Amino acid sequence: MVVRESFPLLPSWTPIVMYSILIPFALIFLYGLWRISRKFELVRALKEVDLRKLRRGLIRVLSQKRVLEIDRGFFHALLFAGTLVLFLGTLTVFLETDILEHLGVRILFDGTYSAFELIMDSFGVLFLIGALSFFPTRDREGKILLLGLLYIGVTGFFLESTRIYAQPNAASHYSLVGYLLSGTVGPLILPFYTVLWWSHALLAFSMVAYLPYSNLLHSLTALLTSSLEEEIVRFPKEPFRLQELEDVEEIKLGFEEASELPWYEKYMLAACVKCGRCTDSCPANLTGRPLSPKDVVQGLKVSLLGGTYELAEDAVWSCVSCGACSTACPNYISPFTFLMERRRSLVAEGRIDKKMGELLNGLRRYHNSLSVPQRGRLSWIESDDDPDYYLWVGCQYSFDPVGKRVVSKLVDLLRKAGIRIAIFGEMETCCGEPARRLGEEGMFQEFALTNAELFKELGVKRLLVLCPHGLTVFRHEYPKVVEDWDVEVVSHVELLAKLVREGRLKVSRSGELTFHDPCNLSRFNSVVEEPREILSRVDGFREMGRHGVNTFCCGAGGANYWYQTGEGTMAKERVKEALEAGAKAVVVACPFCYAMLNDASKGMNLEGFEVLEISELLE
Ligand code: SF4
Ligand code: SF4
Repeated sequence: MVVRESFPLLPSWTPIVMYSILIPFALIFLYGLWRISRKFELVRALKEVDLRKLRRGLIRVLSQKRVLEIDRGFFHALLFAGTLVLFLGTLTVFLETDILEHLGVRILFDGTYSAFELIMDSFGVLFLIGALSFFPTRDREGKILLLGLLYIGVTGFFLESTRIYAQPNAASHYSLVGYLLSGTVGPLILPFYTVLWWSHALLAFSMVAYLPYSNLLHSLTALLTSSLEEEIVRFPKEPFRLQELEDVEEIKLGFEEASELPWYEKYMLAACVKCGRCTDSCPANLTGRPLSPKDVVQGLKVSLLGGTYELAEDAVWSCVSCGACSTACPNYISPFTFLMERRRSLVAEGRIDKKMGELLNGLRRYHNSLSVPQRGRLSWIESDDDPDYYLWVGCQYSFDPVGKRVVSKLVDLLRKAGIRIAIFGEMETCCGEPARRLGEEGMFQEFALTNAELFKELGVKRLLVLCPHGLTVFRHEYPKVVEDWDVEVVSHVELLAKLVREGRLKVSRSGELTFHDPCNLSRFNSVVEEPREILSRVDGFREMGRHGVNTFCCGAGGANYWYQTGEGTMAKERVKEALEAGAKAVVVACPFCYAMLNDASKGMNLEGFEVLEISELLE
C-alpha cells in the first residue's frame, strides 16, 4: 500500500516542536480575530445570517461571480481556488497525520493518495499564477503579502521535489511539478531540506497569524458581506419609524465618529481590500469632485481600529447616490451608504448650505421639490373611472412644459392600449426622495405617511410611477416605514415593455439612438432588460460603453439637482459618450436625466441632437 508519510526527511522531534511553536501564532491569530470582530461588530452581523443568506453568500464566494465580472477577476479566481484547495489539502493532511493515523485509519493511500497529489499540485500551479499576476498592481503591503504567498508556494514545490528525489514511491509521478523538478531541484535542496521546511512552515504560520491584521482579512469576512448584502443596491436603513416613535430625544441620526456607525454598516468595513474599483466607477471622482469612495471606506476602517480620519463634508455632498460604487465592489460593500448616513447627522446639526436649506423649506411649504404652488398641478389630465393604475408623475414632470408633453403622450398611449389611468392632481405631493437623500429622514417619513394615507383613502392598489426616484422609495423604502403598506408599484418602463411585448403598442421611431439607463431604474430596481425590449425594435439602436447596471449618473441624484452649482459635467460626459456611440439622440426614462442631458446638450451647442423620453418612441 502506498501511503503519505508523516514528516518525511525531518528529525523525529519536528512534530512536537512545530505544534509548540504553533500555539503563539494561533493566539496572535485569535486575538486579531477577537479584535476585528469587536471593532466591526462581526458577531452582531453573524446573527443576521440564516441558511438562505449563507447559501447566497457561499454561491457568490465560490462562484467568484462579481470578481469574474471585473478586470483581472480571472486571476483572483485562480488565486482563490488555489488557496482554498491548498488549505483544504493541508487540513486533510493534519487530520490524517495527527488524528486518524493514531486511530489506525488512513484516507490517503494508493488511489486517493495519487489523486490527492495530482489535485494539490494542479491547484498549487493556479495559486502561483494568481499570486504572480497580482504582483504589479498591488501597493507595498500587498506586494509583501504576495511575496510571502509566492515563497510558500514555490518552497512547497521544492520540498515536494526533494521528497520525491529521496524517497520515490508509486504515487510520485502524480505530483506533476514535484516529479518534474525532482531530478534537478531535489539533490540541490536535500542538504538544506530541514531549514527550508522550517522557513516554509514558519512563514505559513506567520501569514495566518497576520491575516486578521492585514488585507487578507477579506478572505474571512467576504462571506459575511456576500451573505448579508442584497443583489439590488440599497440605501441606508431607517434610523427610526416615525409611526412608532415615542421619544424624539432618543434618536441618534447619522454619525460623526466611525465608532457611532450602526452595526449594519460597520461589518462591511472589515471586508475592504483597497482594490479601488469603487473609486474607478464613481462619477463624482471621475469628474473631479473631491470624493473617493475607497478612501472613505478605508478611512472609516482605520478610524474604527484606532487611527484618525475625518470624513470631509465636501466629499459627503459630492455623492450623487448613484450606487456605482456598491455595484462595482467585489466584496458587496456599499461605500455610499456611509456618505448618506453622514448626511443625516449634518442635516440634524444644520450644517447645510443655502440651496439645501431652500430645498427643505420648499418641501415644507409647497409640498413639492420645485417650490411652486400646488394649485392646478396636473389639471390638464382627466382621470378614468375605475382605474387600472394611479399614475404618480413626480414633481419634475408635473410642472415643466416637457413634462406636459411626455405625460400627455404616455397617458394617450396607455389609454390606446386599453388601460384606465387616474391621476392625483393637486393631491400629488413630493414622494420624499429628495429629503431622504439629503439626509432629512423625519421629513421623508412624514411624506411617506401622508402619501400612504392618501393611497388608502383613494383605494390605490397599483401605482404606476413615471419617475425612477419615486419608484425606488415607493417600492423599497415606503414598506419599511409605513405599516400595512400594500401597493403594487410599477415603473412606466416595465408597463410599456409589457404592452409592446403583447403587441398592444408598437415602436414608431427609427434612427441612430442610444439609451441612458437611470441609476434608479437599473441599479436600484434591476429594470435593465425592459427598456431594451422596446429599444431593440428601433433600427439604429446602439449601446453606450457604460450601460445597464454599469451606467453613468447624469449628476442629478442624491438631491444634487437642487444644490450643485457645477456645470453639468457628468451630463456632458454622458452626452459625449452618446455621441461616441454614434447616436444622434439619447433616450431617457427619468425626468431628472431628461433635464440634465437636455441642458448639457444645449450647453454643448449640438445641432440636431435630441433627448427623448422612452414613451416617445411608441405609438
Ligand atoms: S454613490 Fe456614486 S457618486 Fe456616491 S460614492 Fe458611490 S459611485 Fe460615487
Ligand atoms: S469598498 Fe470594495 S471596491 Fe472599494 S476599495 Fe474596498 S473592496 Fe474595493
